[in-house]
Amino acid sequence: MARLYDSRKRILVTGGAGFLGSHLIDRLLDQGHEVLCADNLFTGTKRNIDHLHDNPRFEFMRHDITFPLYVEVDEIYNLACPASPVHYQHDPVATTKTSVHGAINVLGLAKRLGAKVFQASTSEVYGDPHVHPQPEEYWGNVNPIGTRSCYDEGKRCAETLFFDYHRQHDLKIKVARIFNTYGPRMHHADGRVVSNFIVQALLGEPITIYGDGSQTRSFCYVDDLVEGFIRLMNTGDDVTGPINLGNPGEFTIKELAEKVIAMTDSGSKLEFLDLPSDDPKQRKPVIEKAKEKLGWEPKVPLDEGLEKTIAYFRERLPELTV
Ligand code: NAD
Ligand code: UDP
Ligand code: UDP
Repeated sequence: MARLYDSRKRILVTGGAGFLGSHLIDRLLDQGHEVLCADNLFTGTKRNIDHLHDNPRFEFMRHDITFPLYVEVDEIYNLACPASPVHYQHDPVATTKTSVHGAINVLGLAKRLGAKVFQASTSEVYGDPHVHPQPEEYWGNVNPIGTRSCYDEGKRCAETLFFDYHRQHDLKIKVARIFNTYGPRMHHADGRVVSNFIVQALLGEPITIYGDGSQTRSFCYVDDLVEGFIRLMNTGDDVTGPINLGNPGEFTIKELAEKVIAMTDSGSKLEFLDLPSDDPKQRKPVIEKAKEKLGWEPKVPLDEGLEKTIAYFRERLPELTV
């Protein structure tokens, strides 16, 4: 609870030691809030929050959100969940548990406290979409029994829970459907395309393109995304989402590879490998709702964001090669 005479909030960020969570925490602390980060460090790392160690308004708690959590906060951002296929397929049962049991615990906590609760949902709820680009009204095309299902269906069920708690218990919910996001503090080995290509290019290794590279994605820079999170959390109670947050600029994976090679001045060659099963062929958000309800749209162009991300990985390269 916010203390007497104190307008700052106490905010829980689950998954706060991860890529997106750590950037969100930086922004919330900059705004003067207190932040409690709950993370089991499955894919996140203390390195992402090391710089906050001496901040008296920051607190880290090692906790797995599949288990209940009794704390006192004013707002909750629920980000805990492995996010890249390599990570979420490592222990698929745990992935579904994190999304579903995690959502139940976070919603139970929000219900007890009367706190607003934000859910980091995903464009993966649209699956391999038959509608392009994807508006929030599209119900998606998801395989319920494939290798990506633990993530996709887990996140879909979490959305169901959020909306049922809203309808049944009058909870204040904010559901964001996040499209592919990149930037500093991405995990170097989580197999995501931006981190893979940059690290491969910097090391002069072959750039691994899955399939023929004609599949598309839209890449949002992390600072833009975090701005969208905060704007969504601060909307009136009538705005529940789901709201797409992503950059509508659409690129083929081959274009991305060529861009990264050019920007790193790398001698890496393209290597074409098999396309993983259920890999969506195209993805691009419709962001009209975000524009209308949040006054939000991404500002950082791909080249500028890639430059910052390349600089981050270049600095970390000595650690990555040992
Ligand atoms: P990340 O892997 O860097 O961060 C996830 C964090 O959650 C990690 O710190 C991890 O240790 C923690 N975590 C995982 N399981 C947990 C559990 N059971 N209990 C407590 N903590 C747990 O991934 P990210 O890219 O920062 O993603 C954050 C959130 O945003 C995820 O929910 C993800 O599904 C969602 N999302 C991300 C993207 C993207 O492009 N990065 C796109 C769509 C949705
Ligand atoms: N919960 C929690 N912290 C709280 C309150 C609840 O982690 O402060 C968890 C608890 O595990 C509970 C779940 O949230 O099972 C759902 O809570 P809810 O009140 O909706 O359901 P119930 O307690 O009736 O099962
Ligand atoms: N991809 C690729 N090479 C890689 C990593 C990924 O060609 O080294 C492709 C992958 O098959 C997918 C796209 O890039 O078509 C985006 O993959 P990522 O795992 O980053 O995100 P998601 O598939 O979850 O959107």
